[in-house]
Amino acid sequence: MTNLKLAAFNGDHKQRTVISVNGVKVGKEFVVIAGPCSVESEEQTIKTAQKVKAAGANMLRGGAFKPRTSPYDFQGLGLQGLKILEKAKKETGLPVVTEVTDPRDVSWVSEYADVLQVGTRNMQNFTLLKEVGKVNKPVLLKRGMYSTLKEWLNCAEYILAAGNPDVILCERGIRTFETHTRNTLDLSIVPCVKEISHLPIIVDPSHGTGRLSIIEKMSLASMAVGADGLMIEVHNDPSEAICDKDQAMPPAMFTSLMRKLGRLNSCMDDIYQGNGSPV
Ligand code: PEP
Ligand code: MN
Repeated sequence: MTNLKLAAFNGDHKQRTVISVNGVKVGKEFVVIAGPCSVESEEQTIKTAQKVKAAGANMLRGGAFKPRTSPYDFQGLGLQGLKILEKAKKETGLPVVTEVTDPRDVSWVSEYADVLQVGTRNMQNFTLLKEVGKVNKPVLLKRGMYSTLKEWLNCAEYILAAGNPDVILCERGIRTFETHTRNTLDLSIVPCVKEISHLPIIVDPSHGTGRLSIIEKMSLASMAVGADGLMIEVHNDPSEAICDKDQAMPPAMFTSLMRKLGRLNSCMDDIYQGNGSPV
């Protein structure tokens, strides 16, 4: 692909990028980021964080700024939400992944976030991309729901070109004619990314499917296809979730999924070499 001077493998970049987030090595070990869609309260966030930590998650997710389809839906708790995430991190030791939606918020939100998330709706918000490119925090760049691989990697290039080398890609499903699932999870993009780019790529089967009943299978499939990790929405009490209730995973199901991922992971070295290619 042309003009991907930094995002693609080239003469200078022969090695896969490994990004350290408070000791969690994204791109080296299989990483699971879990937590609620949105931070709703201290109790909900801390309870959920404790449960996902106990199940073996590596990072906590939770939105304090929610880009919603309707302006009348819950928009997130903002600063209060970030302070709750800070408490949950203190409580569990889990690094925090949270979304930033406005270029003006990047510098102060990055004081609370260990990883800054750029959501699907903002993938091509070039002002935001340049801003997150200036800070010293890794960026989780979700694929735009209408975006091609080339467009997505060019957005990663914006962040890298602005000076931030730590970009994690996240496939979260694209819009197709299919309406049975919320989006169509494009797992074929994972090996495609790995052929072109050295950046780590994780998969979000929660937004990718919108259907709790199939998230476990798509999570296992993500690992099998060579993804570097997962982002999964977990809620301590899904029936009460304010946001994305239909895809919120209860902690017991998450614990069972983590066990299955562990079993699959133990066979992965036999199937793939360290470079992501099948043996
Ligand atoms: C999220 O992860 O909270 C989110 C809003 O996801 P997406 O941008 O993929 O819709
Ligand atoms: Mn969500």
